[in-house]
Amino acid sequence: MAQPMTNSAVSPLLPVDDVRRQLIDLAACVTDAEKVLSNSALGRVVADDQVSQIDVPPADNSAMDGYALNVASGLLDAGVPLKVSARIAAGQVAAPLTPATVARIFTGAELPAEADSVIMQEETRVEGDRVILNRIPKVGEFVRSKGQDIQQKQLILERGTRLDAQHLGLLASIGIAEVSVYRRLKIAVLSTGDELVEPGNVLQHGQIFNSNRSLLKGLIEGLGMQCIDLGLVADNPEATEKALLEGADAADCIISSGGVSVGEEDYVKSAVEQLGDLQIWRIAIKPGKPLAFGRVKQTPFFGLPGNPVSVFVTFCILARPFLMKCQGCQDTLPPVYQFRSEFSFAGGSRREYLRVQVTRATDGTMCVQQYPNQGSNILSSVVWANGLAVVDIDEQVSKGALIKVYLFSDLLS
Ligand code: AMP
Ligand code: MG
Repeated sequence: MAQPMTNSAVSPLLPVDDVRRQLIDLAACVTDAEKVLSNSALGRVVADDQVSQIDVPPADNSAMDGYALNVASGLLDAGVPLKVSARIAAGQVAAPLTPATVARIFTGAELPAEADSVIMQEETRVEGDRVILNRIPKVGEFVRSKGQDIQQKQLILERGTRLDAQHLGLLASIGIAEVSVYRRLKIAVLSTGDELVEPGNVLQHGQIFNSNRSLLKGLIEGLGMQCIDLGLVADNPEATEKALLEGADAADCIISSGGVSVGEEDYVKSAVEQLGDLQIWRIAIKPGKPLAFGRVKQTPFFGLPGNPVSVFVTFCILARPFLMKCQGCQDTLPPVYQFRSEFSFAGGSRREYLRVQVTRATDGTMCVQQYPNQGSNILSSVVWANGLAVVDIDEQVSKGALIKVYLFSDLLS
């Protein structure tokens, strides 16, 4: 368990990287795997190394429509009518090539035994039932050789690979119909706040719509995990404890939003302390300074802040790597890019994650603009943006200098 580092309002803020490292250390990979059809396994994480049982392609085949021939024999000349002794379309199996002849062949058809190259039809001329070659090709020309892509016994995907479309294609290319994947992680989500109402209702005075529920459900499902939606939880100890226990029984991890500050109406902290244990991490991050992490019974728990942008940032930067590791993924941290900043920015006492747009400037280079209102309640900033720029503590970003950026395309899947 994490060291009890906090609860003191005066303790120094923890560096984001330290918290993230600690969270990754605490994450335990789900152990159960299940077999699924490999063409339905998009977004799942492979539970075993995948080794090919075959060569791909399984035999030498033609890369062109043309003529297969044996160049090494030295029996063929350019400019001379040659006998076409066979016709081989894709999917057909041919007899060995007759010496001093060529075989008509089509793209993807296996080369006949004794053939060692292919000349494309554009470099030939048909004369009656014979063909004249403009030139003699080199041995191996336009031949896709056996095992050129994948060799038998080759490791093609490592355990912990998250399957994108190209991985599904590769599995299919080696004939894998079913693949062993980790079962989907189940994440229970609860939104605290007496001011919240669900979309579809009419707002009364004092109320706002619950955006975090949809936001977190989308973030979790975007990672290929299952969301157990515990809905709205009223600001009182009983409702909070009941929801947390329900989450602990049903899920691998619980994520709440709101109610983790120091206000009198914040019940999440004390409920988690009752049912398990809790650290409040005061993190040098903006937005999202206070983040609760602990266990409800044995189930890991994240108490995210209430403001939706803080939810988005803390989920992507802190919860996501933890969850990805629990899901069995090898890659837990997204890549950081550097692009030219179109604004200057003075870093403060916390690392800032700014909602930015990365676009192509007129000179073709990539540049970064920031949303004018970086408030943690301004959810439209996240919709406008396509990335989060990172400004370190006390870092001075000058206009025209490079700024570090995470792209949403890496954070949201
Ligand atoms: P809290 O930490 O509970 O005091 O919440 C901080 C701010 O976030 C308050 O302005 C809340 O109204 C707002 N907030 C909390 N939960 C949600 C939610 N689910 N959707 C939208 N705003 C929220
Ligand atoms: Mg609240």
